[in-house]
Amino acid sequence: MGVGTILNEVLGDFMPLNIKLNDIVELKKPHPCGSKRWKVLRVGADFRIQCEGCQHKVMIARVKLEKRIKKINGEKPNDN
Ligand SMILES: [Zn+2]
Repeated sequence: MGVGTILNEVLGDFMPLNIKLNDIVELKKPHPCGSKRWKVLRVGADFRIQCEGCQHKVMIARVKLEKRIKKINGEKPNDN
């Protein structure tokens, strides 16, 4: 394993997920309504997302949201 590989792994850990407006994110835990899918309405340090099941809207800090995300638009974000 070279230095470049190690650097990539370190930097990779700090790379923010590429979440864009109107993306559909799937969270690890379902909402009480049963849906795991949320639409992104606002991006920034705080995100605003809307539940696809019950249309409930919430504000959530980016760091918190990233920890809960399982998929973005149907794809696993950390698969290389
Ligand atoms: Zn819901």
